[in-house]
Amino acid sequence: MSVSTFVQPVTTNNEHFSLCTALAKQHGTPLLVLDVNQVRENYLALANALPNVALHYALKPLPHIDVVNALNELGGCFDLATNGEVDLVAQAGVMPSQVIHTHPIKRVSDIEHAVAYGCSTFVFDSENELYKFEKYSDKVELLLRLSFPNKDAAADLSKKFGVTVADALPLLKKAKELGIRVRGLSFHVGSQTMDPQKYVYAIEQCKTVFEMALAQGVGTMNTLDIGGGFPVSYTGNTIDINEFCAPIRAALAQWPDTTHFIAEPGRFIVASAMTHVMSVMGQSQRGSLRWYYMDDGVYGAFSGRVYGEPEQRFYTQYSTEFAAGEPSVLAGPTCDSIDVIGDNVLLPALQDGDLVFTQNMGAYSWTTSTDFNFFAKAQLISLNSSMLVAEVG
Ligand SMILES: *Cc1c(COP(=O)(O)O)cnc(C)c1O
Repeated sequence: MSVSTFVQPVTTNNEHFSLCTALAKQHGTPLLVLDVNQVRENYLALANALPNVALHYALKPLPHIDVVNALNELGGCFDLATNGEVDLVAQAGVMPSQVIHTHPIKRVSDIEHAVAYGCSTFVFDSENELYKFEKYSDKVELLLRLSFPNKDAAADLSKKFGVTVADALPLLKKAKELGIRVRGLSFHVGSQTMDPQKYVYAIEQCKTVFEMALAQGVGTMNTLDIGGGFPVSYTGNTIDINEFCAPIRAALAQWPDTTHFIAEPGRFIVASAMTHVMSVMGQSQRGSLRWYYMDDGVYGAFSGRVYGEPEQRFYTQYSTEFAAGEPSVLAGPTCDSIDVIGDNVLLPALQDGDLVFTQNMGAYSWTTSTDFNFFAKAQLISLNSSMLVAEVG
């Protein structure tokens, strides 16, 4: 299937925001508008940029059934980490051969549940975890997760998971002693990684580990999982994913032809597919700044403001251009002082009830929302969830 299959006529911000305004009138705010066609497009663009890599969508940033169904229809695979994620793909009729389970630390009951569904590839990064797989050694194969710290990422997952290159060999040896097959290595260079060289370095280090393991007779591995982390353009600087992946393709080309490559993209698949709509609840002048109190905030869809997600741009019904107006504060609805979405946002004068739009809200927003203070999570509305509609459109 070509990348252009689902490309729709270019919609301007104006047209898209009028559609979102109509939906907000109908459903109320806060509202998240998911365009499933954009999910399909993102998937196909990355598949095109990484042609020999099996893309396993990591459910974590947006565990939604419409996303799972759309990717399943395109022949996509999935990266699961929890029982809830296992249940969601099972509900969508995803075959167990299409999934891997990549949480390095699991309860015995998590392994039981995933194995019962039929998942046969799991990730580990400690000796302790290996013992949990002893009784499943005839049913499962493992990937060993390596750690490549990346302080520039929105989330540096190597702080919490993965072993160093030096610690990899003893673990591979231990697995062999226990009769558990390790079929490869995995890593995650950090979410929203802007520098493809981070992947290249990790891929080269993994190659060394593969070769050492072979030389020392501790295993013949055939799989390399390069994780997620693929970046999204939040600030208007366009990232060409094909160009971004060129050095990664070159690094993978150094590996034996028989290697099975996997990636676990999360953010890249869904971030640009969702637009958020919120309303002004009230406002006040505090010193030189206009404060707008919105009906969603950091305890809701903007939780990413707390854990290092990139800043977003805000658009209004008066200006579909970014950064028009006076320096203002966009605050969330709760009675907590940290509930501020942006403290220096250029906005035109807004009335109570006016709408503010935020693009690129598909990843780590809906799923991490709470209903703190009883402010309900934003409702999610899907557009183009049926493939039929997509093809006609
Ligand atoms: C979160 C996560 C992903 C997805 O990462 P993105 O940066 O959203 O692409 C993939 N794999 C694992 C193991 C993760 O924890």
